[in-house]
Amino acid sequence: MCAMPDDLVIARPEGLYCPPGDFYIDPWRPVARAVITHAHSDHARIGHAHYLAHTDSAGTLRTRLGSDIALQTLGYGEAIEHHGVRVSLHPAGHVLGSAQVRLEHGGRVWVASGDYKTEPDGTCAPFEPVPCDTFITESTFGLPIYRWPTQAALFAEIDAWWRGNAEAGRASVLFCYAFGKAQRILHGVDASIGPIVVHGAVEPLNAVYRAAGVALPETLRVTDPGVDAALLKRALVLAPPSAQGTPWMRRFGNYADAFASGWMQLRGTRRRRGVDRGFVMSDHADWPGLQQAIAGTGASRVFVTHGSVAVMVRWLTENGLEAQGFKTEYGDEDDQEAPSPPGGGLEKGQAALDGDAGGPHPSLPPEGEGAKA
Ligand SMILES: [Zn+2]
Ligand SMILES: [Zn+2]
Repeated sequence: MCAMPDDLVIARPEGLYCPPGDFYIDPWRPVARAVITHAHSDHARIGHAHYLAHTDSAGTLRTRLGSDIALQTLGYGEAIEHHGVRVSLHPAGHVLGSAQVRLEHGGRVWVASGDYKTEPDGTCAPFEPVPCDTFITESTFGLPIYRWPTQAALFAEIDAWWRGNAEAGRASVLFCYAFGKAQRILHGVDASIGPIVVHGAVEPLNAVYRAAGVALPETLRVTDPGVDAALLKRALVLAPPSAQGTPWMRRFGNYADAFASGWMQLRGTRRRRGVDRGFVMSDHADWPGLQQAIAGTGASRVFVTHGSVAVMVRWLTENGLEAQGFKTEYGDEDDQEAPSPPGGGLEKGQAALDGDAGGPHPSLPPEGEGAKA
């Protein structure tokens, strides 16, 4: 399959481009008009002259890119017409405000899904399949080994770990990405177990979620009055991966630590991160979720943007669909800890199947030294 003259989205050096509409979707280089699927930094970059995104992305986009960006917002299902292209946004279930972009022009319908997750998590509008002729999908976890536990099973595990640590009198430090994953954890845990303390990188995003009406339990900062050694011994502490091994950690004394990421499904990732526990938790679809989402669109043509591109293209082709990869510069919000060798695609797939994806992480202390400074 190759690009056809009337394709609604084509790959350009700046990003995914809609020729009849003359705009880009999640471009990685500065452009005049950008439709943004969600506010993670690899999809929402600085420097575009005009942004279009979902209403619930406004808070995170302005926090990250500046309050003065030229931003137009749409609700889910609301449509605008631009140069004859009908553009509407639909829930992607990835993070607050995440949207699939539906394009309709000349009787054709294309959907660019950005990042998505199929299981509802209570912190953002659940993924909705949008019927289309051509579907543009991610494939971050596009390998048969990736199968997520249900939300209920995941939080039963996290709660049991926290409860056990609190009973033993040690803090439970859970490293997680500050936007999306931290709020999912807050929303899902049993807050009756103990106090919850968050790193300074997490709290501004909690505020955005709360403002959007997402119920989150009370969160404390380490500098708040009453937050002392006795309180911390029973606390769940949420911190971004970048806090690992920093002096900020010292106040927690003899703590237990864990990491929440889809990559925790891989043998060796937890050990490489130097944490006690790994929780398999992702804001992306797992392998069955990707298949279910793609089938749900009814699309006969599929473009794959990032992740295990070659594996997914092969699987789709074997299943009778027209499929090909789009070369993009998207990563994953867990990139710091993600095993993503340059080029992605099959190399990544093969490495992951070997159980040895990733390699050294330059930002981390060498294996064996741990991070409990
Ligand atoms: Zn994302
Ligand atoms: Zn992505």
